[in-house]
Amino acid sequence: MAKQEDQFKKVISHCKEYGFVFQSSEIYDGLSAVYDYAQNGSELKKNIREYWWKSMVQLNDNIVGIDSAIFTHPKVWKASGHVDAFTDPLIDNKDSNKRYRADVLIEDYVAKIDTKIEKEIKKAVKRFGEDFDKAQFLETNPKVVAYKEKQSQILSRMGKSLENEDLDDVKAQIEELGIVCPISGSKNWTDVKQFNLMFDTKIGASAEDATKLYLRPETAQGIFINFLNVQKTGRMKIPFGIAQTGKAFRNEIVARQFIFRMREFEQMEMQYFVAPGEQKKWYDIWKEKRLAWHYSLGLGEDNYRFHDHDKLAHYADAAADIEYRFPFGFKELEGIHSRTDFDLKAHQEFSGKKIQYFDNEREETYTPYVVETSVGLDRLFLAIISGSLKEEDLGEGKTRTVLKLPFVLAPIKVAILPLVKKDGLPDIAKKILADLRLEYSVAYDEKDSVGRRYRRQDSLGTPFCVTIDHQTIEDNTVTIRNRDTMEQHRIKSDELADYLNKEVSMSTWLKRLK
Ligand code: ATP
Repeated sequence: MAKQEDQFKKVISHCKEYGFVFQSSEIYDGLSAVYDYAQNGSELKKNIREYWWKSMVQLNDNIVGIDSAIFTHPKVWKASGHVDAFTDPLIDNKDSNKRYRADVLIEDYVAKIDTKIEKEIKKAVKRFGEDFDKAQFLETNPKVVAYKEKQSQILSRMGKSLENEDLDDVKAQIEELGIVCPISGSKNWTDVKQFNLMFDTKIGASAEDATKLYLRPETAQGIFINFLNVQKTGRMKIPFGIAQTGKAFRNEIVARQFIFRMREFEQMEMQYFVAPGEQKKWYDIWKEKRLAWHYSLGLGEDNYRFHDHDKLAHYADAAADIEYRFPFGFKELEGIHSRTDFDLKAHQEFSGKKIQYFDNEREETYTPYVVETSVGLDRLFLAIISGSLKEEDLGEGKTRTVLKLPFVLAPIKVAILPLVKKDGLPDIAKKILADLRLEYSVAYDEKDSVGRRYRRQDSLGTPFCVTIDHQTIEDNTVTIRNRDTMEQHRIKSDELADYLNKEVSMSTWLKRLK
């Protein structure tokens, strides 16, 4: 655990030191759970968004993108159920005066049982050596089976209590499990209460006729209320999808863990409209497609897993999370939800406007069902940066810090480094820079030794460094160095653009994804 915490601390300080993420309003001592993206972070974030957008919208004939407003008519949130039901169950510890999400306390308890299971696996690996069959062990070892049974009992009881609004039972469960406050160590808990997570504000010139509005807590509703507009103007045929990226706001009770849980964050969502009865098929397809997309980043397939929900939101008939192994354990990265026809029906009812689709093939009119994929851009940023940050042992007591970002996402794709600041080398370097920057974000650095400049670029995650030396003057070749292998070789400077295109360009990565 201590090692994991150390790794997480390193990620946070790396983000600050190398200009990725800053605490918002830092000069005023910061605003809790709000962050600003810095010069390198905003590039990385933009690249992640672009990779998602292109693979979703550009590569799919039947998915289009929109950009709806953050403000909407207040009835939208009444219809969606957020005014009445977008709540978290909270509980306070009377000794530390700290507030927690009751469901998270219980889920953390369940996650600790995972650690016990992993210990059993480690012991068994030692005992059985090469003969060890993990799948069989997990199914038959009595201790592991009992642990898993316990986990599922706890989660299913919690799911039922939350569904039935039986908050007394949620508290009883916390007490029965002996869960203590991580700060005070005590079990002195208040009752569990529901807390609405939406922020509100007012629109209008004078206090009398001002209308209360909500800042959207998810981008999805902007898609539902535009369903007919997009379907008609785009002549879209079911099944089809509408995608969007944008800010969402939630007054999170416990906003911890850096950019994992923020009060202002960005979502990347796609709502896929399907015929009634087809939702299960599409739900399974989108689960697999999204997992494959995450795998394509190359952060290691072991670091992802599905978590199927026992506790379903009011609008869903199936839901799963793609979880990622963050430095603080496996946690939700993306949600895949089968949202039924709940939202479109609700907007039809609250707006009084017919929201239906005539299916030519089936020759019938219906309210489409929806399968959604919803990923937090900031959470994805955290997953990518924490999965990429490595401390490498170079031998002879030397180490290097390297950010092994997927090449396509790196904020700077290539750094141009004249070996020395004289003999015309900077002029040649600047010419190369001028060419390459038309296509890619390029850095130019002439300060310090080349070795130190390499290290600086490694820390920023720059995939390639190009060094211009005296031989360049003679034969027009440069040295190109790969961030991950640290291998260097010479190529003609006019071949650089092609070389980079094969390695770092969006099209190369999108092709691989297909
Ligand atoms: P959690 O259980 O972690 O609160 P959620 O189930 O409420 O998340 P969804 O409503 O399904 O989340 O939102 C979809 C995605 O948006 C999440 O998978 C996550 O990546 C992201 N997300 C949700 N809340 C936040 C937040 N407060 N800060 C950053 N990202 C968030």
